[in-house]
Amino acid sequence: MFNRAVALMDLSPGLEEKIRVCNSTYTVRFGVRLRGQIHTFTGYRSVHSEHMEPVKGGIRYALAVNQDEVEALAALMTYKCALVEVPFGGSKGGLCIDPRQYEEHELELITRRFAYELAKRDLINPAQNVPAPDMGTGEREMAWIADQYARMNTADINARACVTGKPPHAGGIQGRVEATGRGVQYALREFFRHPEDVAKAGLSGKLDGKRVIVQGLGNVGYHAAKFLSEEDGCRITGIVEHDGALHSETGLDVEAVRAWIQRHGGVSGFADATYVAEGASLLEAECDILIPAALEGVINLGNAERIRAPLIMEAANGPVTSGADEVLRARGTVIIPDLYANAGGVTVSYFEWVKNLSHIRFGRMQRRQEEARHQLVVDELERLSADTGIGWTLSPGFKEKYLRGADELELVRSGLDDTMRTAYQSMREVWHGRDDVQDLRVAAYIVAIGRVAKSYKAKGL
Ligand code: NAD
Repeated sequence: MFNRAVALMDLSPGLEEKIRVCNSTYTVRFGVRLRGQIHTFTGYRSVHSEHMEPVKGGIRYALAVNQDEVEALAALMTYKCALVEVPFGGSKGGLCIDPRQYEEHELELITRRFAYELAKRDLINPAQNVPAPDMGTGEREMAWIADQYARMNTADINARACVTGKPPHAGGIQGRVEATGRGVQYALREFFRHPEDVAKAGLSGKLDGKRVIVQGLGNVGYHAAKFLSEEDGCRITGIVEHDGALHSETGLDVEAVRAWIQRHGGVSGFADATYVAEGASLLEAECDILIPAALEGVINLGNAERIRAPLIMEAANGPVTSGADEVLRARGTVIIPDLYANAGGVTVSYFEWVKNLSHIRFGRMQRRQEEARHQLVVDELERLSADTGIGWTLSPGFKEKYLRGADELELVRSGLDDTMRTAYQSMREVWHGRDDVQDLRVAAYIVAIGRVAKSYKAKGL
C-alpha cells in the first residue's frame, strides 16, 4: 500500500526508504512470579518514525502479537497521525498474552512490569513515547501504566501525559472511549455530504435508511453501530461476532445485542434475528455499508470476490489485505481506508494529552462566560420584542440550547468532527484532483507521506 502511493510521488529514493523503514523495535522478555512460579512474557515497542515527538500508538495484548505486526501497525500510526494532523510520530506496542487466562491482580502485575521495562528506556514518556489502548487493553491497563510511570518519575509534573485512554477520574478525557466509533460516524457523515463520492460507490441519497453490517461489537464496532442507528437512521442488518452472526433485514437493536453478548459471551441464542453459525459468511451478504471492526485480514483473497457491499468502512486496522484490495478496487468497491476511518481514537488521545499537559479541563475557563454573553443576546431580543410590541417568541427549546455553554464532551466531539471533515477533504482533493489516483487509500497515503516527507525535509534530511 505504501509502495503504490510512493510510485505516484516525487520523492528521492533515499527519503522514500527512510520513511518506509521502522526506526527501531525493542523486544523485552521479563519474568513475573504468578501462582507460585515464574512466567516469562515477550513484549515489543516499535517506533516507526520520530519526525514528530512524542511518538504514539496503542499497546495490544494478544497471543498473535509479533515483531512484523507491531512494526506494520507502528507505520500505520505514522500515516494516520499525519493524515489527521495530530502532531505525533508513529509507534506501537504489544505483549504476547491471552489476557482472559489471568486474574485482574495478575494482569496488573504483568502490566506494571511491562510498563517498568518500557519506561526505563523512555519507551513510555510524555515527551517521547505515549501509548494508548488497543485490542485486549483498555482504561484499566492505561491507569496502571500511568501510575507505574508516576512512581518511577515522582518529580515529573506531566507524568499523566505518559499514556492516553485513561479513565476520566485518573486523568482521562470525556469521550475517549466512544472516540473511534464516533469518528467512524463522522467520517461516514462527511462521505455522504458529497453526492459525487456516494455515486462512485453506486449509492445515492443520505445515510438515513442505509443497511449496515458490522463485524465485531467491541469498543469500536459497538459505538459505530449504536450512533449510526440511533442518530443517523441507519439499519444495522448484520452483526458478526466471534461465535457467529446475527441477521435481520428490519434492523437489529444494537443495545439489546450488546447486552446479550455481555451476559452470554456471544451472539448465539439471541432472539429477534436469524443466527448464522458461519459468521464470516455474513460479510458477503447484501448491504450498503460493510464495517469490519474486529480483526485484520478478514477480507482477503479467499472471500473478496464474494463481497457485495459497495462501500467498506475500515474501522479495524488492516481488515482488507492488499490482494483483496486489488480485487475490490477492480470491481469499483469504494473503501474508506483504516488510516482515516479509525483515526478518531488517536485524535481524542491527542486532546487528552493536551489536557494533561495544560492541567485543566477543556471549557473550564470560558463555559460560563460564553453562557453569560448568550444570555445578553436573549435578554435583548426579549426586551426588543416587548418594547416594540412585535410579540416575537423564541422557538421551544431554543433558549436552553443556545444558552448552554459547551462542556468537555461537546468540545471533544466538535474537535473530532472538525478533524474528520478536514482530513476527508484533504484525501478527496487528491482522489478527485489527480487522474492517476483511483482510490481513497492511495489518496490518503499520498497526503500522509507527503506531510511526513515535508517534515523530514524541513529538518534538513
Ligand atoms: P475490542 O477488543 O473491544 O473488540 C473486538 C470485537 O471483535 C470483540 O467484540 C470480539 O468478540 C470481536 N471478535 C473477535 N474475533 C472475532 C471474529 N473472528 N469475528 C468477529 N468478531 C470477532 O477491540 P476494539 O478496540 O474495538 O478494536 C477493534 C479494531 O479496531 C482493531 O483492529 C483495533 O486495532 C482497531 N482500532 C481500535 C481503536 C480503539 O480506540 N479501540 C482505535 C483505532 C483502531
